[in-house]
Amino acid sequence: MLIHELTRHECLEVLARTQLGRLACARGMQPYVVPIYFACKEDWLYSFSVPGQKIDWMRANPLVCVEADQMRREHWATVVVFGRYEELSATSERTFAVNQLQHRAMWWEPAGAKTIPDGTPAMVPVFYRIKIEQITGRCGLSEQETPDTKHANADPYEEGWMRNIFRRFRHPAER
Ligand SMILES: Cc1cc2nc3c(=O)[nH]c(=O)nc-3n(C[C@H](O)[C@H](O)[C@H](O)COP(=O)(O)OP(=O)(O)OC[C@H]3O[C@@H](n4cnc5c(N)ncnc54)[C@H](O)[C@@H]3O)c2cc1C
Repeated sequence: MLIHELTRHECLEVLARTQLGRLACARGMQPYVVPIYFACKEDWLYSFSVPGQKIDWMRANPLVCVEADQMRREHWATVVVFGRYEELSATSERTFAVNQLQHRAMWWEPAGAKTIPDGTPAMVPVFYRIKIEQITGRCGLSEQETPDTKHANADPYEEGWMRNIFRRFRHPAER
């Protein structure tokens, strides 16, 4: 397995094509990680939640970390973001967040699925965004991938945009 660093542009491309990530926040010395759906737009990640532990913790300490990845058989790309939590209160900002998030059908479901004891959905939405302050990415490619296998390695499981990223490392002369 050969591991390569992704450029900032490639990292943002991975985020733009990924919807599911892991959000880490911390209180004191205690980290906390949960899966979330997000939408990436320029230097921001947009997401939505109902109040709970992660919102309480991010309000107290806005420094967070988000990991997202793409796995295609033996190839992978992972991106790590260090960022800052920011709640969206203005109607225009919330509308913008909804517009970003609603590209995924049922985008509200996991965040809105929390229930209170009598079973009534507790739908008090919190829209927030994470400012991408630092971003790094890596991708892993099978060592069997050499220029000689150029035409044989068009993996049907790889989407075109991901193939372009991997191609930079497989065939540097083509870029
Ligand atoms: C595929 C997927 C996508 C999701 N997308 C979103 C999203 O976009 N927005 C969103 O708000 N939520 C999303 N969730 C749910 C999210 O992962 C959290 O479970 C949920 O938001 C509650 O987090 P909380 O901090 O408010 O926990 P609380 O309800 O306050 O619960 C506190 C305690 O419950 C436990 N807990 C909470 N969540 C989990 C969990 N997932 N697994 C195991 N233990 C848990 C922890 O021990 C935590 O200390 C998604 C979940 C999945 C599986």
